Amino acid sequence: MTVRSVNVFGATGSIGQSTLDVVRAHPDKFKINLLTAQSNVERLAAQAIEFQPSHVVIGDEAHYSALKDALSAHPDTKISAGEAALVEGAQDIKADITMAAIVGMAGLAPLMASIAHGGLIAIANKEPLVAAGAQVISAAEQSGATLLPIDSEHNAIFQVFEPKNKAAVERLILTASGGPFRDWSLDKIKSATPEQAINHPNWEMGAKISVDSASMMNKALEIIEAHYLFDMPASKIDVLVHPQSLIHSMVEYSDGSILSQMGASDMRTPITNIMGWPERIKTPGARLDLSALTQMTFEPVDHARFPAINMAYEALKSGQGACLAMNAANEVAVSAFLSHKIAFMDMHDITMRTLEKRQKADLNSLNEIITYDKLCRDLAESFIRKT
Ligand code: NAD
Ligand code: MG
Repeated sequence: MTVRSVNVFGATGSIGQSTLDVVRAHPDKFKINLLTAQSNVERLAAQAIEFQPSHVVIGDEAHYSALKDALSAHPDTKISAGEAALVEGAQDIKADITMAAIVGMAGLAPLMASIAHGGLIAIANKEPLVAAGAQVISAAEQSGATLLPIDSEHNAIFQVFEPKNKAAVERLILTASGGPFRDWSLDKIKSATPEQAINHPNWEMGAKISVDSASMMNKALEIIEAHYLFDMPASKIDVLVHPQSLIHSMVEYSDGSILSQMGASDMRTPITNIMGWPERIKTPGARLDLSALTQMTFEPVDHARFPAINMAYEALKSGQGACLAMNAANEVAVSAFLSHKIAFMDMHDITMRTLEKRQKADLNSLNEIITYDKLCRDLAESFIRKT
């Protein structure tokens, strides 16, 4: 494998740090060009000193001077700040691999700018795919960029999906851990705190996706993500709770074969898989010890306690506007829950109410998407104020 240049958007987050771990393990294979973060100056500066990118961007302009001070001994590293600088970074700095690991719709504009360059786009940032999947996929088709999934379920499917046998795919089966509230009663879930929600049994992740895992909204988003990534109708996408998180997802073919990918609950496996693709290179992450396994179980989703899954199927039926509304309202609701403004199940009510009111079907341009996303957020905020 020749040396590949890498841009990491969201370098200080959970996925960003795991990506840099893979780069650290293979100094002969990867070279970092660009690192970005929103506000964690200390971590971004330490990463810049270690990986020597040509350019770093901090999203929140208030942190520009602190970052400049922290990197004063490295005058060759170009530093910029602000939302526009993230997009400019994506436009100006070409890379063989772009890791899209910003959280939320904030990642959409840098993602689209990176896609325009082509190359390999490793996409962890699922929210833009949920809200603007059609535009993301078509932009990649136009620029020739190769869009490959980091999300463990979609990466598993990618590894066992046979494009030439697409017509014989009967079902994509997304596995779900069930999150920290899998065996909690509905009453107990209603009074769950943010601290309990972010305490995931199998995975260490950022706060937003941890809350989404607790409500199973993460799986709801992943149903829509799978629909766009693999061009599969909702009727061919199923969810199965698999508490041990050993099988990361499956594809069932018409001949009765079910192909799956297994691995430790460690995002460095899907990240290494994509960064080395189409070769297979060594992961610095954990390994699965099959001889130590005691059981592997599967159970259906309990829709009464986890209503998000059915919301995703409804949203897909309604169209892109509904998917966008669901994602936007959920982002706002998760943030309100994390700051103790609303209760756990209020997140579902607020998202559902936003979805019912905002179902614009046709969203053609990126500007229309951004405007509609803002409208949905404002509506969700208004529901939160009345809670
Ligand atoms: P995180 O919160 O740990 O990190 C988010 C990163 O994005 C940070 O570097 C942060 O500085 C940056 N960021 C936050 N807000 C920003 C903004 N407004 N503008 C620009 N940058 C901003 O999140 P994470 O867990 O690493 O998740 C990142 C994405 O990957 C999410 O979309 C998530 O759904 C997806 N994902 C994560 C995991 C996981 O295991 N963590 C697994 C699958 C998919
Ligand atoms: Mg996932």
